[in-house]
Amino acid sequence: MIKVGINGYGTIGKRVAEAVSLQDDMKIVGIVKTKPTYELRGAIDANYPVFASTKSKIPFFNEKGIEVSGVTEDLVKIADLVVDCTPGKLGVNNMSMYKKAGTKAIWQGGEKHAPIGTSFNSLTNYSESIGKDYVRVVSCNTTGLSRTLYPIMNEYGINNVQAVMVRRSGDPKDSDRGPINSIEPVLTVPSHHGPDVQTVITDLNIQTMAVKVPTTIMHVHCIIAELNSEPDVNRVLELWENTPRIDLIEGFLKNKDSKIRNLPGTAEIMELARDSLYTRGDLNQIAVWKDGVHSFGKKLYYYQAIHQESDVVPENIDAIRAMCELESDPSKSIQKTNRALGIN
Ligand code: NAD
Repeated sequence: MIKVGINGYGTIGKRVAEAVSLQDDMKIVGIVKTKPTYELRGAIDANYPVFASTKSKIPFFNEKGIEVSGVTEDLVKIADLVVDCTPGKLGVNNMSMYKKAGTKAIWQGGEKHAPIGTSFNSLTNYSESIGKDYVRVVSCNTTGLSRTLYPIMNEYGINNVQAVMVRRSGDPKDSDRGPINSIEPVLTVPSHHGPDVQTVITDLNIQTMAVKVPTTIMHVHCIIAELNSEPDVNRVLELWENTPRIDLIEGFLKNKDSKIRNLPGTAEIMELARDSLYTRGDLNQIAVWKDGVHSFGKKLYYYQAIHQESDVVPENIDAIRAMCELESDPSKSIQKTNRALGIN
């Protein structure tokens, strides 16, 4: 059993902790919190040992009747591997602490690739992380782009990808984020997403743009991929059907001459995830609209939706397996993780 610590128990940290607990080859030995806020509830209910981020924070936890098992360094010492889920650009500062303790670490997509050196996606480059000490699981958007582009690239070859990310402005719990009445473009082109995909699919020629919109539940990608030969839409759908962690959905149902709204947008997709009784109503899979896939000559057009809070969660589990050399075959790890998480 690999002993896993979670540093930073927010949107991603709590989900990775739950996912680790569902595996039979790894377990949670503790989580780090900076403050005894409401988000500790899940950790206490799950009996995860709680560690304060620093010594000075311990009295604050004690005042609230929460016993702590130590501070971050104590957890790092007892863990084989720490999944660092602290806010983006902060986590990398913890590298020296992990190095000093000889503990492996995984960071999330808010960190840059360079200081960590290896970026991870279960489908595209699992083997690069086998036995590695420090790995970064790429962001939710990059994970989504990689999952759907990789099988297309393998079948047809890709000359160029142009994609626009329509990004949620904050997670549902982030009442301090915005905009709430505006659409904000990322004025730097390419946005960071394209170069980020190249950290897990090298040689992919891709440029991205992004806008932030007032919604909290999902991102949507509009993708145009120019392939090396003319794609057949049915074959493309078949490829995605056979790719793990992609769900093909229908925006509209056709009934004789009428079109019935089925899953036309992100609101209905998340309702389906809740109806499916997925944990927290999460959707680890990338949702691709079947009826939104089109081709003109060598160009393939499609839309996909990303549940930003959860698509990277199974990737973190696979990354742990690769780094700790529990499994060398990516598809076996993917299947094992999917089974444990109830991903169809
Ligand atoms: P979050 O703000 O929900 O959670 C971060 C947690 O870390 C909070 O509980 C915060 O209190 C805690 N924290 C802050 N400083 C700390 C410290 N010094 N030590 C320990 N804990 C500390 O953030 P998140 O959305 O979970 O993001 C975490 C990482 O995952 C980031 O790199 C982010 O870019 C990435 N990510 C986020 C999403 C998403 O949509 N939320 C998706 C994919 C990747």
